[in-house]
Amino acid sequence: GDRPTGRLHLGHYVGSLKRRVELQNSGRFDEINILIADDQALTDNADNPGKIRENIINVVLDYLSVGIDPTKSTICVQSTLPALHALTFYYMNLVTTARLSRNPTVKSEIQMRGFADEGLPVGFFAYPVSQAADITAFHANVVPVGEDQLPMLEQTREIVEKFNRIYGETLTMPTAMIPENEMQRRLPGVDGKAKMSKSLGNCIYLSDSAAVVKKQINGKMFTDPLHLQISDPGHTEGNVVFTYLDAFCTDEHFAEFLPDYANLEEMKAHYRRGGLGDGTCKKFLFNVLEETLAPIREERARWAKDIDTVYDILAAGTVKAAETTNETL
Ligand code: ATP
Ligand code: MG
Repeated sequence: GDRPTGRLHLGHYVGSLKRRVELQNSGRFDEINILIADDQALTDNADNPGKIRENIINVVLDYLSVGIDPTKSTICVQSTLPALHALTFYYMNLVTTARLSRNPTVKSEIQMRGFADEGLPVGFFAYPVSQAADITAFHANVVPVGEDQLPMLEQTREIVEKFNRIYGETLTMPTAMIPENEMQRRLPGVDGKAKMSKSLGNCIYLSDSAAVVKKQINGKMFTDPLHLQISDPGHTEGNVVFTYLDAFCTDEHFAEFLPDYANLEEMKAHYRRGGLGDGTCKKFLFNVLEETLAPIREERARWAKDIDTVYDILAAGTVKAAETTNETL
C-alpha cells in the first residue's frame, strides 16, 4: 500500500506499482489487496488531516491509471478497517522500544521529519507495528515494495514469528519483493537526493503534464558539472540523467528515439569519451519517460471524469477488506 500524503510519483511506479500490476495480471495469486494507509499518514500529519483526506482519491486515481484493475485487486482504506487497529494493539506487546529504535528507516525518517528536535509522536514511532497488522490481516505472502521498506518487512516477520510461537500457528509469514533493477529500488529525486519522496518535493508525479515533466528534467536534473563543452569527456556515475536512464530505458527506446546507439552502454561510452551533449541526453530521457507517463495520464483523465465510479470501487473494496480483516482478528 501507500500513504495518501500526495499524488503518486515515478518512485512509486518503479518501486512498487509496476510490480503490483504484473502480479495482479500473472494469475498466480488468489487475492491482491492494496491498502491506502491514511491512519499511518496521520502519524506524521496529525495537524493536517485535510491533506490526507484529499489525497485518498488522488491515490486511487493513480492506481487505476497505472492498470490496477478493481475486478482483480481489492483497494481499501485503512481507517475504515477497525480490525487493523485491534491487531496493532496486540502486536505492540511483542515489540520492544529498543527494537523499534534500531529500525534504520524509522531512524532516518525521524531525522528527516525533524522529530529528533521537536519530539517524537508515539504513533509515528510505532508505525512499523501497525504496518505489520496491515500486512498480516490479509495473510499477505508476497509484498512488493521499494528498498526503504525492507526493515518494515523484517519487523513484520519477527512479529509473525513471535506471535505464532506464543499463540500457535496463526499468521502467514510474508516475503518482501523488491525490484531487480538496482536503480528502481530507490529512485533518487530529480535533485539527485537519495529518494524521490512526496515529503521532499523532488518528484515527477504520474499525473504531471508533459510540460511539467520537461521542466523538471531541463531545470532540476543536474548532469556532470565537469562536462562544460560537448567535446569534454563526461561522467555517467552520479549523473542524475543517466541514473534515470538506468531505471527506465530499454533497447527498444533506442530504436525508437535515438537510433545512433543500440543500447545504453553505447550511449554511456560516447558520453564518457566526449562528444555527446547534455541536451541530447535530456531530450532522450523525456521521450523515454513520456512513453510510460503519457498513457497513464490519459487513463487518469478518463477516470477523473467518472469519479462516482471511483468512489464506488473504493466502497466495494472496503466492504470486502472488512470481511477479510475481521476474520483474521
Ligand atoms: P512519504 O514521503 O509520505 O513517506 P513516499 O513518497 O515515501 O511518501 P510511501 O507511501 O511512503 O511514499 O511509499 C509507498 C511505496 O512506494 C513503498 O513500497 C515504497 O518503498 C515505494 N517508494 C516510495 N518512494 C520510492 C522511491 N523513490 N523509489 C522506489 N520505491 C519507492
Ligand atoms: Mg515513505
